Amino acid sequence: MKVAQVSKPGGDFEVLERAIPEPGRNQVRIKVEACGICHSDVLVKEGRWPYGLEYPRVPGHEIAGRIDAVGTDVSLWTPGQRVGVGWHGGHCFICDPCRRGNFINCRNQKITAIHVDGGYAEYMIAAAEAVAAVPDALPAPEAAPLLCAGVTVFNALRNAGAQAGDTVAVQGIGGLGHLGIQYARQMGFRTIAMGRGANKAELAKKLGAHEYVDSSAKAVADDLQKLGGADLILATAPDSKSISALVNGLGPNGKLMVIGASPEPLSISPIQLIAGSRKVDGWASGTAQDSQDTMEFSALSGVRPMIEKYPLDKANEAYQQMISGRARFRVVLTMS
Ligand SMILES: [Zn+2]
Ligand SMILES: [Zn+2]
Repeated sequence: MKVAQVSKPGGDFEVLERAIPEPGRNQVRIKVEACGICHSDVLVKEGRWPYGLEYPRVPGHEIAGRIDAVGTDVSLWTPGQRVGVGWHGGHCFICDPCRRGNFINCRNQKITAIHVDGGYAEYMIAAAEAVAAVPDALPAPEAAPLLCAGVTVFNALRNAGAQAGDTVAVQGIGGLGHLGIQYARQMGFRTIAMGRGANKAELAKKLGAHEYVDSSAKAVADDLQKLGGADLILATAPDSKSISALVNGLGPNGKLMVIGASPEPLSISPIQLIAGSRKVDGWASGTAQDSQDTMEFSALSGVRPMIEKYPLDKANEAYQQMISGRARFRVVLTMS
């Protein structure tokens, strides 16, 4: 089989042949049809996290394809089924969080393409509990980005506590944000899109936003207050300074939900939180069942990622397109 692997931190993607792997106990083999390129793939490509990451490694944790073979003790999946795998690559079932059903915070969690090889390949092995069924309405290249970007946004929104009719502001119109606007609208929220510059307003409206706020304007929090203040702000752009500037745009009891992963601290004063009883929260993607819910909701409501497709052979070019920020909005590798 063909894979695109990274042999050392900072190395290019090398497209080469490997033996097709066999699934072990509680594992399935997936014939990959499409794999999204996520910004977090930079961790493997540049060796940034975790310490001791083993190379060579095949990146890719936005995988859509078909079950090709199953190992022993697999009862849920059969060859031919359309499936996907995301960041959450499996859990142990026996640690304290697992015994409480909190699989995403498993202490022995396996991460796809970090602890095992991922989806920049024609075949991959996945743990049975990490596999999600893909609805027929979603072609593989459109399903793939929903396995990380999609579930992260969908799961954060549905667990944030906002109710139908509440005002939800989505900061950033990028890989996460363009999905966030669509989900917020389809979940029944009054949806405010926040992007840089006035020229994004048209796209934001097309994605379903009721209102648009130019986040490069100085008085971005005031602009949100003029629209009544946000019950929820979903911060998708990994820019801590811009995120911190949004807090005063929250209405009473409003919540800032952060999913744009930045290592920089937020600067928010206690007074900002006390006045109006505001909250700051974060959310970590989801399990395979969360991914399945995300895809079913997308099939039902018409939410789709905007994608640019590249063949697996062009993994270097595709990755550059993603990392440059030029992509509108998710880059997807296709295998056949
Ligand atoms: Zn990701
Ligand atoms: Zn566990």
